[in-house]
Amino acid sequence: MRAIIYSCPLMKLRVGLGFDSHPFEKGKPLKLGGILIDFPMGLKGHSDGDALLHAVADALLGAVGEPDIGELFPDTDPRWKDVDSVLFLKEALRRVREKGYRLLNLDCVILADQPKIAPYKDSIRKSLSELLELPVECISVKGKRREGFCQEEGLACLCTLLLVHEG
Ligand SMILES: [Zn+2]
Repeated sequence: MRAIIYSCPLMKLRVGLGFDSHPFEKGKPLKLGGILIDFPMGLKGHSDGDALLHAVADALLGAVGEPDIGELFPDTDPRWKDVDSVLFLKEALRRVREKGYRLLNLDCVILADQPKIAPYKDSIRKSLSELLELPVECISVKGKRREGFCQEEGLACLCTLLLVHEG
Protein backbone atom coordinates (compact mmCIF):
# COMPACT_ATOMS: atom_id res chain seq x y z
CA MET A 1 0.00 0.00 0.00
CA ARG A 2 2.81 2.37 0.93
CA ALA A 3 4.62 1.67 -2.36
CA ILE A 4 1.45 2.38 -4.34
CA ILE A 5 0.99 5.77 -2.64
CA TYR A 6 4.59 6.85 -3.25
CA SER A 7 4.56 5.81 -6.90
CA CYS A 8 1.46 7.90 -7.57
CA PRO A 9 2.31 10.81 -9.92
CA LEU A 10 0.11 13.09 -7.80
CA MET A 11 2.79 12.92 -5.10
CA LYS A 12 4.76 15.33 -7.28
CA LEU A 13 2.13 18.03 -6.70
CA ARG A 14 1.99 20.50 -3.80
CA VAL A 15 -0.78 22.99 -3.14
CA GLY A 16 -0.17 26.32 -1.37
CA LEU A 17 -2.61 28.66 0.38
CA GLY A 18 -1.89 32.31 1.18
CA PHE A 19 -3.76 34.99 3.08
CA ASP A 20 -2.79 38.52 4.12
CA SER A 21 -4.57 41.68 5.21
CA HIS A 22 -3.45 45.21 6.05
CA PRO A 23 -5.28 48.34 7.22
CA PHE A 24 -5.20 51.45 5.04
CA GLU A 25 -2.80 54.27 5.86
CA LYS A 26 -3.26 57.79 4.49
CA GLY A 27 -0.48 59.23 2.35
CA LYS A 28 1.26 55.93 1.59
CA PRO A 29 1.37 54.64 -2.03
CA LEU A 30 -0.89 51.63 -2.60
CA LYS A 31 0.91 48.66 -4.10
CA LEU A 32 -0.75 45.39 -5.07
CA GLY A 33 0.96 42.60 -6.94
CA GLY A 34 4.00 44.80 -7.48
CA ILE A 35 2.17 47.67 -9.22
CA LEU A 36 1.04 51.09 -8.02
CA ILE A 37 -2.71 51.65 -7.70
CA ASP A 38 -4.13 55.17 -7.92
CA PHE A 39 -5.70 55.61 -4.47
CA PRO A 40 -5.26 58.16 -1.64
CA MET A 41 -4.28 55.49 0.90
CA GLY A 42 -1.69 52.73 0.97
CA LEU A 43 -1.43 49.68 3.20
CA LYS A 44 0.02 50.07 6.64
CA GLY A 45 2.85 47.69 7.35
CA HIS A 46 6.54 47.42 8.11
CA SER A 47 7.34 46.78 4.42
CA ASP A 48 5.62 48.49 1.46
CA GLY A 49 2.44 46.64 2.58
CA ASP A 50 1.84 44.77 -0.71
CA ALA A 51 -0.69 42.30 0.74
CA LEU A 52 -1.04 40.39 -2.54
CA LEU A 53 2.69 39.70 -2.84
CA HIS A 54 2.71 38.70 0.84
CA ALA A 55 -0.12 36.21 0.27
CA VAL A 56 1.59 34.72 -2.81
CA ALA A 57 4.95 34.46 -1.03
CA ASP A 58 3.30 32.69 1.92
CA ALA A 59 1.51 30.27 -0.42
CA LEU A 60 4.79 29.41 -2.16
CA LEU A 61 6.56 28.92 1.16
CA GLY A 62 3.67 26.95 2.67
CA ALA A 63 3.51 24.58 -0.28
CA VAL A 64 7.09 23.42 0.32
CA GLY A 65 6.90 23.47 4.14
CA GLU A 66 9.08 26.56 4.62
CA PRO A 67 8.50 29.18 7.36
CA ASP A 68 6.14 32.04 6.42
CA ILE A 69 7.31 35.57 5.60
CA GLY A 70 6.50 36.75 9.14
CA GLU A 71 9.18 34.36 10.40
CA LEU A 72 11.68 34.93 7.57
CA PHE A 73 11.32 38.73 7.54
CA PRO A 74 10.13 39.78 11.03
CA ASP A 75 8.67 43.29 11.34
CA THR A 76 10.93 43.88 14.34
CA ASP A 77 13.94 43.85 12.00
CA PRO A 78 14.79 47.34 10.66
CA ARG A 79 16.26 45.76 7.50
CA TRP A 80 12.72 45.12 6.20
CA LYS A 81 11.36 48.62 6.97
CA ASP A 82 9.64 50.04 3.85
CA VAL A 83 11.27 47.29 1.76
CA ASP A 84 9.84 46.35 -1.66
CA SER A 85 7.85 43.15 -1.12
CA VAL A 86 9.24 41.79 -4.40
CA LEU A 87 12.21 40.82 -2.25
CA PHE A 88 9.97 38.50 -0.14
CA LEU A 89 8.43 36.97 -3.25
CA LYS A 90 11.82 36.34 -4.88
CA GLU A 91 13.12 34.63 -1.74
CA ALA A 92 10.01 32.41 -1.59
CA LEU A 93 10.45 31.50 -5.27
CA ARG A 94 14.13 30.75 -4.70
CA ARG A 95 13.26 28.31 -1.89
CA VAL A 96 10.60 26.62 -4.04
CA ARG A 97 13.07 26.14 -6.90
CA GLU A 98 15.83 25.01 -4.54
CA LYS A 99 13.55 22.13 -3.50
CA GLY A 100 13.01 21.19 -7.16
CA TYR A 101 9.49 22.56 -7.57
CA ARG A 102 8.01 24.65 -10.38
CA LEU A 103 4.88 26.82 -10.19
CA LEU A 104 1.99 25.63 -12.38
CA ASN A 105 -0.76 28.16 -11.67
CA LEU A 106 -1.86 30.87 -9.27
CA ASP A 107 -5.40 31.95 -8.39
CA CYS A 108 -5.89 35.14 -6.35
CA VAL A 109 -8.76 37.05 -4.75
CA ILE A 110 -8.45 40.66 -3.59
CA LEU A 111 -11.16 41.45 -1.04
CA ALA A 112 -11.75 45.19 -1.10
CA ASP A 113 -14.66 47.60 -1.18
CA GLN A 114 -12.26 50.22 -2.49
CA PRO A 115 -10.36 50.79 -4.66
CA LYS A 116 -12.03 49.05 -7.61
CA ILE A 117 -9.75 46.20 -8.68
CA ALA A 118 -11.23 45.53 -12.14
CA PRO A 119 -9.31 48.32 -13.98
CA TYR A 120 -6.00 46.94 -12.60
CA LYS A 121 -6.58 43.20 -13.01
CA ASP A 122 -4.65 42.85 -16.27
CA SER A 123 -1.71 44.94 -15.03
CA ILE A 124 -1.53 42.92 -11.80
CA ARG A 125 -1.60 39.64 -13.75
CA LYS A 126 1.16 40.90 -16.05
CA SER A 127 3.27 42.01 -13.10
CA LEU A 128 2.83 38.66 -11.33
CA SER A 129 3.62 36.87 -14.58
CA GLU A 130 6.94 38.72 -14.87
CA LEU A 131 7.85 38.34 -11.19
CA LEU A 132 7.02 34.63 -11.09
CA GLU A 133 8.20 33.85 -14.64
CA LEU A 134 4.83 32.19 -15.23
CA PRO A 135 2.62 32.65 -18.35
CA VAL A 136 -0.14 35.17 -17.73
CA GLU A 137 -2.74 32.51 -18.74
CA CYS A 138 -1.75 30.57 -15.61
CA ILE A 139 -2.60 33.50 -13.31
CA SER A 140 -6.03 34.67 -12.20
CA VAL A 141 -6.78 37.84 -10.21
CA LYS A 142 -10.30 38.56 -9.02
CA GLY A 143 -11.58 41.57 -7.12
CA LYS A 144 -14.43 40.96 -4.66
CA ARG A 145 -16.35 43.48 -2.59
CA ARG A 146 -17.24 42.61 0.97
CA GLU A 147 -20.76 43.96 0.69
CA GLY A 148 -20.76 45.79 3.99
CA PHE A 149 -18.65 43.39 6.01
CA CYS A 150 -15.68 45.18 7.67
CA GLN A 151 -15.79 47.78 4.94
CA GLU A 152 -13.34 50.50 4.00
CA GLU A 153 -10.75 50.01 6.70
CA GLY A 154 -8.27 47.98 4.68
CA LEU A 155 -8.08 45.09 2.29
CA ALA A 156 -7.28 41.39 2.28
CA CYS A 157 -5.81 39.03 -0.29
CA LEU A 158 -6.17 35.28 -0.66
CA CYS A 159 -4.51 32.97 -3.12
CA THR A 160 -3.96 29.35 -3.91
CA LEU A 161 -1.32 27.86 -6.17
CA LEU A 162 -0.04 24.53 -7.40
CA LEU A 163 3.56 23.33 -7.66
CA VAL A 164 4.98 20.30 -9.44
CA HIS A 165 8.25 18.58 -8.62
CA GLU A 166 10.50 18.56 -11.65
CA GLY A 167 12.41 15.43 -10.62
ZN1 LIG B 1 1.47 41.61 4.73
